[in-house]
Amino acid sequence: MTQESGGFAALGLHSNILAALTAVGYEEPSPIQAQAIPVILEGHDMIGQAQTGTGKTAAFALPLLSKIDPSKREPQVLILAPTRELALQVATAFETYSKQMPGVNVVAVYGGAPMGPQLKALRMGAQIIVATPGRLVDHLRRDEKLLSTIQHLVLDEADEMLKLGFMDDLEVIFEAMPESRQSVLFSATLPHSIRAIAEKHLREPKHIKIAAKTQTVSRIEQAHLMIHADQKVNAVLRLLEVEEFDALIAFVRTKQATLDLASALEAKGYKAAALNGDIAQNQRERVIDSLKDGRLDIVVATDVAARGIDVPRITHVFNVDMPYDPESYVHRIGRTGRAGRDGRALLLVTPRERRMLQVIERVTGQKVGEVKLPNPQQVLDARIKRLTASLTPLVSEAEASHGDLLDRLIADIGCSPRALAAALLKKATNGQALDLASVEREQPLVPGVGAPRERRERDTARGEYRERRAPLPLGEGRVRCRTALGTRDGIAAKNLLGAILNEGGLAREAIGRIQIRETFSLVELPEEGLDRLLGKLKDTRVAGKALKLRRYRED
Ligand code: AMP
Repeated sequence: MTQESGGFAALGLHSNILAALTAVGYEEPSPIQAQAIPVILEGHDMIGQAQTGTGKTAAFALPLLSKIDPSKREPQVLILAPTRELALQVATAFETYSKQMPGVNVVAVYGGAPMGPQLKALRMGAQIIVATPGRLVDHLRRDEKLLSTIQHLVLDEADEMLKLGFMDDLEVIFEAMPESRQSVLFSATLPHSIRAIAEKHLREPKHIKIAAKTQTVSRIEQAHLMIHADQKVNAVLRLLEVEEFDALIAFVRTKQATLDLASALEAKGYKAAALNGDIAQNQRERVIDSLKDGRLDIVVATDVAARGIDVPRITHVFNVDMPYDPESYVHRIGRTGRAGRDGRALLLVTPRERRMLQVIERVTGQKVGEVKLPNPQQVLDARIKRLTASLTPLVSEAEASHGDLLDRLIADIGCSPRALAAALLKKATNGQALDLASVEREQPLVPGVGAPRERRERDTARGEYRERRAPLPLGEGRVRCRTALGTRDGIAAKNLLGAILNEGGLAREAIGRIQIRETFSLVELPEEGLDRLLGKLKDTRVAGKALKLRRYRED
C-alpha cells in the first residue's frame, strides 16, 4: 500500500476502493470523510453538515460502494441531488471510485434528457442511481417498483433541493423505498424544514459537523480570486508576475496537481518543485532545505506533504485548490507570516465554492477581499519594475568595469549607444515581452467568473471559451490521456498526433479525439496496451518540451 491511501486504509473501506483512491492520488481523508465514512460503514443513518469543497461526495460514495453487492444486478444505492450538474458530478465520482470494482454500474437520471437511455441503463441492472427528484418521480410513475430494492439513500445538498421546491417529489420517493434502508442527509444548512424531514424519515441519525472554532490569522493579508477550475494554472502564472514574493507555497489537493503545477512553473523559469505523499522523506527534506536557502522559490504541495514546514522566507501562500475546512485554511496560511514577518495569502475560488469562502470568513472573523487578475499593463509594469531593480545596483560599478568595452563595441559595430544598450537589454531579458502589445499577445485574456457577456464573446472569438468546455464523451475501448502542453506552448493537434504516431508506433485509426486547450491537451488512446504505449512515449518531446503523457483521471 502506498502512502496516499494510508489514512483511508484505517477507515475500513474495501481494498478495491483503496486501490482506486491511490490511482486518483488522494492522500488522506478530509475531515468530513474521516468522520462520516466509519458511521456510514456501520450502517447508521446520518446528518452531515457540509458544503461543496469539503469532500462530501467521497464521504458518502466511498463507504456506500464498500457496502454494495456487485453480484446483484438491481438498484441498491440512491443519491438524490438538486441539479443535473451535481447529479452528473456525483455519478462521475462514483464511477471514478468504483474503477476497480468490476460489475458495478452507475446511472444518472435527470431532466432535460430523453427518458429512453436512462430507462435502458436502469433495466441493465445499475446498482447506483444518481437522480434529480423530478425526473426520478417520472420514472417511478412508469415503474413503481423501481426503488423497491434500495438499501441506502443519500440526500445531497438537501437544503438546495427544498429551495428548488422538490419537497413533494421527495415524499413520493421516500414512499417508494423500503423502510429498512439506511438514510444519509447532507446539507450546508439545517433549517427547520430539513430537521423535519430528518425527524420523519431518518432513524436515530448521527450528526456530523466540521468543528468551526474561530481562529485568528493576524499579520497575514488575505485575498481571493474568483476563477474557473480549468483556468487555475493560467491564473497562478499571471498572479506571480505581479506578486512580489520571496518564497511561496502553493497548496493543491492531489499528487497529480502538485506535478502539473510545478512543471508549468518550471517551464516558465521559476525554481519550483512538487511535494506530495509519494516523495520519500529524505527527498522531502532536501526540497525544504532548498526552499530555505533559495535554491527553490516555490513549492507546490498537498496538505499532508506540507505538514510542519517552517520556512521564514515564505512570504506567500497560494491556495490553488480550496482547503476542506476553515481549520485547514488557517493552518495552510500559517506557513507564511513566520517569525513575526508579514505574509500574504491568496485563495482561488471556483463558482461552486463561494459558500466555502463565506465559511472561512466567518470562522476567521476576517473579510477575505476580492482581487482581479492583473491586466497586461500591470504585468508589464511589474516586469519593468523588476528589470529596473535588477539593473540599478549595477550601473554605478559597471561603467568602471565595462565602460571601455562598451566604447569598443560601439566602434566595432558602428552603432549608437542607444542601439547597443537596446541590444544588450534584449539579450539580458531573453526575449521576454516588454511592451504592451507583446504582453497582450502572450497573455490571452482569461475570462473571469461573471465577466460581462461581451467580454466572454470576445474571449470565445479568441478560442478561449474552449477552455471551459467539459471533455467530450469517450469513444469505446479508449481512455483519455493528458499532457500539460497546450496552445500556450505552441502545440497544435498535428504535433501531438505526429509525435504519438512516430514514437508510439500506432496506426492513425487507433488514436481518437484530440482536444487542445490552452494549458493542457487530451488525447484518446486505446486502453489495451496503454502502459506499454506510455512507456514508449516516456521521453518524447513536442515543440521542444517534454510530452509527459499520462492517463487522465476523470474525477
Ligand atoms: P466535494 O466537496 O465532494 O465537491 O469535493 C471537492 C473536490 O475534492 C473534488 O474535486 C474531489 O475530487 C476532491 N477530493 C475529495 N476528497 C479528497 C481527498 N481526500 N483528497 C484529495 N481530493 C479530494
